Amino acid sequence: MATLAAAVRPFVNEPLLDFRKEANGQAMRAAIEKARKELGREYDMVIGGRRLRTEEKIKSVNPARPSEVIGIHQKAGREHVEPAMQAALAAFGTWKDRLMEERAELLFKVADILRRRKLEFNAWLTLEVGKNWEEAEADTCEAIDFCELYAREALRLASVEPPVQLPGERDSLRYSALGVGAVITPWNFPLAILTGMTVASVVCGNTVVLKPSSDSPTIAAKLFGALEEAGMPAGVVNFCPGAGATFGNGLVAHPKTRFVAFTGSRDVGLDIQVRSSQPQPGQIWIKRTILEMGGKNSIIVDSDANLDAAVEGVAVSAFGFQGQKCSACSRAIVHQKVYDQFLEKLRQRVAQIQVGDPAENKYMGPVINEGAMKSILNYIEIGKKEGRLVTGGKRASGDGYFIEPTVIEDVDPKSRLSQEEIFGPVLAVMKVKDFDEALATANDTDYGLTGAIYSTSEEKIERAKREFHVGNLYINRKCTGAVVGAHPFGGFNMSGTDSKAGGTDYLYLFSQAKSIGHKLN
Ligand code: NAD
Repeated sequence: MATLAAAVRPFVNEPLLDFRKEANGQAMRAAIEKARKELGREYDMVIGGRRLRTEEKIKSVNPARPSEVIGIHQKAGREHVEPAMQAALAAFGTWKDRLMEERAELLFKVADILRRRKLEFNAWLTLEVGKNWEEAEADTCEAIDFCELYAREALRLASVEPPVQLPGERDSLRYSALGVGAVITPWNFPLAILTGMTVASVVCGNTVVLKPSSDSPTIAAKLFGALEEAGMPAGVVNFCPGAGATFGNGLVAHPKTRFVAFTGSRDVGLDIQVRSSQPQPGQIWIKRTILEMGGKNSIIVDSDANLDAAVEGVAVSAFGFQGQKCSACSRAIVHQKVYDQFLEKLRQRVAQIQVGDPAENKYMGPVINEGAMKSILNYIEIGKKEGRLVTGGKRASGDGYFIEPTVIEDVDPKSRLSQEEIFGPVLAVMKVKDFDEALATANDTDYGLTGAIYSTSEEKIERAKREFHVGNLYINRKCTGAVVGAHPFGGFNMSGTDSKAGGTDYLYLFSQAKSIGHKLN
């Protein structure tokens, strides 16, 4: 076991399957058919290895066919907070003292399981949240990458370079676990984000109570199954689907919660920040919060940009996975010289986007649920008043929650359409007179998650690198699709605590360093 670090090969990203190859397409169809045979199954809540059922249930449905029930899940309430916490605390007693190598080994095993069952996980992503095959594959590969990267990072933390050595002393720094974490996850990367936050927690020696989104509990249950299959001891992860307002709230407030790892919307993130900061009777630490939240992301198209590349980048960033990525482009800020040309090319490009069942690998599937659909359609109505509708603008045909890819131009940068996170396939296009105005407009939101610039001017690119205030900036490429290892991900301002998931700094957030000055005789 001690030789694990030496035996590990350097990290490489999991290669993506190419679904243009007939054989891969057939395999994906077969995986979806196989998953369909398991639809409607009931899954347990698991606390300290004990499988539990509750009276109240969460029913997850296929957003492309809402009558199709994907999975029935237990619904943790306030009464489950204490047992889940006690199980996690009990497991922490021994898990924290395991060798880092053993915990890293668990992550490598989970990666192997995900790799072996990739198409199965892809199929559930398609059925439960409406990802087309490429998007599902990217989600699963990202989950594998998180396991592979964090396992290596943990091994690195276990043998960090010693600090400065004072004469007559042996000085050292050791990273140790924090305690029990509340891991609270969103539905939009229901495998990758959930896996990343969970395995980062446990590899550092923490134990967790995992509360997935009620829109994607089946994928979470499948990942939990993979953790068990990999040999994770009972209680290290406690699987508790439940409502945010009751179970989630109670978990955040519990005095024994040592940290909260949350990804989701800004309002919930801010609420968690406030609740976490209020010490409870018996609480002896400041709770650490790792909060990754929403975005209102811009792509700047400069006067000298390659317009075809810019149109492609904007279209896929705005409409990939129906605009439901935190990194999605929702504002295109275009120089007046190329504005008309850009808009016409964009209109033509968006007209080619197919909307339909992601199980048939249509480019744009449904939005996640009825509430989201109504909210997005409402924003479109606001947008029609605030700007001019270029294309889209209504529900698309089908039983599911399908919305046309929508472009609204001539939008005031201060308008609601330009400032509020819509989280759907709606793009606002704005005209600016020069690059100064473009940068000022891009920076003029409460958020700061991703951004991109299309330009051939080295000078403007350098300015963007200095002045475009976002956690993830891209030059001459789309603003979505951060790659683990290459593009550590996390936002500025109201987009979050800039935790840089998928980067070499990430595990420090899940551990605490003990500095030891040992005087030698
Ligand atoms: P959400 O905030 O509605 O829910 C996220 C999680 O928080 C869910 O598990 C939910 O049940 C839980 N929750 C809700 N209320 C709670 C409470 N009071 N206490 C504790 N937990 C509570 O977000 P969502 O709709 O699932 O996800 C979409 C949002 O996530 C978007 O805003 C998107 O931009 C953001 N997001 C951000 C990133 C990032 O890395 N910055 C990544 C993905 C998604």
